[in-house]
Amino acid sequence: MTQATIQSAAETILEVSNLRKSYAKKQALQDVTFSLKAGTSFGFLGPNGAGKSTTMKILTGIVKADGGSARLFGREMTENPDAVSRYIGYVPQEITLYEKLSAYDNLEFFGQTYGIRGNELKRRIYDVLERTGLSERAKQEVQTFSGGMKRRINIAAALLHRPKLLILDEPTVGIDPQSRNHIFDLIRELNREGVTIIYSTHYMEEVEALCDEVAIMDQGSVKAIGPLGELLERYGRKAIYLEAAGLSEPPHDPDVFHAHKEGSGWVLETERVGTVMQRLLGQASQQRWDVKQLEVVRPSLESVFLRVTGTALRD
Ligand code: ADP
Repeated sequence: MTQATIQSAAETILEVSNLRKSYAKKQALQDVTFSLKAGTSFGFLGPNGAGKSTTMKILTGIVKADGGSARLFGREMTENPDAVSRYIGYVPQEITLYEKLSAYDNLEFFGQTYGIRGNELKRRIYDVLERTGLSERAKQEVQTFSGGMKRRINIAAALLHRPKLLILDEPTVGIDPQSRNHIFDLIRELNREGVTIIYSTHYMEEVEALCDEVAIMDQGSVKAIGPLGELLERYGRKAIYLEAAGLSEPPHDPDVFHAHKEGSGWVLETERVGTVMQRLLGQASQQRWDVKQLEVVRPSLESVFLRVTGTALRD
């Protein structure tokens, strides 16, 4: 069986339709609809305020929706809070740990809230500490930890009951690269073991690195959804990468509809790659640019985002 048939045969575990939510006068979610197959690593990509956290909080029962439905295995989630908490692990954006307790004691506390006790709890605590790379810090107070280590303990806490669906809300915001790498490796490993992932972020690179499906969220609704490759194919636009010494502004070209900085060069998005390339070569020789790199690049998620929302995620 090919990978594609395995994926299409996977069971739909979550069906979310027309979720709505307002806080006072602010409409946070207008219409959130998506479904999720078992084993997917699903990215929620959107700028701050898009409604990612609110959606996740509704799925975990922390926030109540004003309307719409969220079904886990065909059953309304609000009617099955016990099944939801057994099945789902949630890593909120806010770190929720007892600073004066050790990593181990924090995990013991969270484990007990799931009804895990005794030797079984002890085994699981050492297991999640190992998986998050913090075994050696088990007995140290959490207040001595870096932001990234605290985040990893938060993730460890969400894994104690061995959830089948792990929901992570922007877990890499404000943390060190070492912790970020640990988190990425762990998410990949869990996903390989069959854990379904919902991962929210406003970083496109993270979706590209971790997710096989993506929902693009903006202003309280899902604007586009699908496998990453399909979205790139459908909405992505070709671009040219240009790096030339001292080029502090992107060159003007009537066929470039969007330009953004990447590394030391410029990504120039265009439907007319050949024409723009010709003109750039002309300009480069006329104006004696010291060209370091000039090449056609694959459509990026940035261009998909721009196309479906009308705004650039980086702006
Ligand atoms: P994201 O996670 O994509 O940044 P959120 O779901 O946190 O988005 O927020 C969506 C919108 O709802 C934002 O405009 C935000 O200011 C608003 N919002 C979120 N939580 C609250 C709250 N507790 N009270 C009032 N407004 C809120």
